[in-house]
Amino acid sequence: MFPVNEDALLEIGPINKSFAASQVLRDVSLSVRKGEFMTLLGPSGCGKTTTLRIIAGFESPDSGRVRLNGVDVTETPAYDRDVHTVFQHYALFPHLSVADNIAFGMRMDKVPEEEIRRRIPEALAMVKLSGFENRRTTSLSGGQMQRIALARAIAGRPALLLLDEPLGALDLKLRKEMQLELKNLQKRLGLAFVYVTHDQEEAMTMSDRIAVFNHGRIEQVGTPGEIYEMPKTSFVADFIGGANIFSARVLPGSQGRAHLKLEDEHELDVPLDPGESLPEVGALVKVAIRPERVKVYYKDELPFGSLRFEAILKDTVFLGDGCQIYLRMFQSLPERLTVALAGGDRYAVHDDKDVPVIAAVQPEDVYILERDG
Ligand code: ATP
Repeated sequence: MFPVNEDALLEIGPINKSFAASQVLRDVSLSVRKGEFMTLLGPSGCGKTTTLRIIAGFESPDSGRVRLNGVDVTETPAYDRDVHTVFQHYALFPHLSVADNIAFGMRMDKVPEEEIRRRIPEALAMVKLSGFENRRTTSLSGGQMQRIALARAIAGRPALLLLDEPLGALDLKLRKEMQLELKNLQKRLGLAFVYVTHDQEEAMTMSDRIAVFNHGRIEQVGTPGEIYEMPKTSFVADFIGGANIFSARVLPGSQGRAHLKLEDEHELDVPLDPGESLPEVGALVKVAIRPERVKVYYKDELPFGSLRFEAILKDTVFLGDGCQIYLRMFQSLPERLTVALAGGDRYAVHDDKDVPVIAAVQPEDVYILERDG
């Protein structure tokens, strides 16, 4: 059932899972390499936590298998799997000291006391909390508690660490700091992480690869760059970075380019990436344009070769380091186009409303989506 993959530490698939009448996972297959940071990303309720719980052994799949280090562990109880889970709410014992919290799992696993005493300061140093051995966990801040939960997880030396929104309870600044710390720690330890989040920026910052979930399915697995630059579905394009999605008909084109006709009759020649196959002539496809790739002009002074759309500037939302502009399109579908302008560029747009503008897009900034999603 699994393709042979020497590098794979974890392989799951094809997993199906229902709770009562509702199917929450559909044919979920995934492979995680040794030392890899894999993120399960998607909106609330799409099945990320259920996938993680199946990997941990807290839930059983209705069908499909879980294999760890080449061994089928689908029927193995959670406590016998070589994995450790870090939860959003730390799950530390309030009546135990930091050292005893870290030692707890190792004692359950019958690690010799001498070895436990050696690993505690080592794990604390890794999370930058040396000297905290005798503190009560109730005297710690949220960030410190999450570091202790991590220290406890890595002290047990699992083959795989599972993390379910571990930074979700922290404020934004601490969250950003911890993202980088966690990523550095993961690289230093060479440990594989499966990390659940609904925050796309967090996923982009930390991951080697991201699996994008939607309604219990994985829509795409790829590096942050691949997911952003080559989204396969409308959902992925929109969920990661936002996108303007158009429908287009494929017309006969030339070598290495796709000739497309949008619903409003605009025609464009889209260069294909190396290895990207030419869609079938006559097929209806979806194309995506990133908001930051759209330029707004007041006069007809467009750069050579750009695709132009006549529009009305409806709204400008300032975001501090840039702004988001909403345009109502004259003939084109969709009716609304979102434009993102960074830093100084935002001054190019006046704070006017209901003024006619021209939106310009370069053909190489139009992506053809493989599926509708
Ligand atoms: P979130 O980010 O909100 O945690 P998620 O992507 O992790 O979302 P899951 O927690 O996996 O999603 O839940 C997927 C669906 O399964 C949801 O509709 C949820 O209500 C349902 N679900 C999860 N666990 C159970 C359970 N034990 N019994 C019944 N339904 C459940």
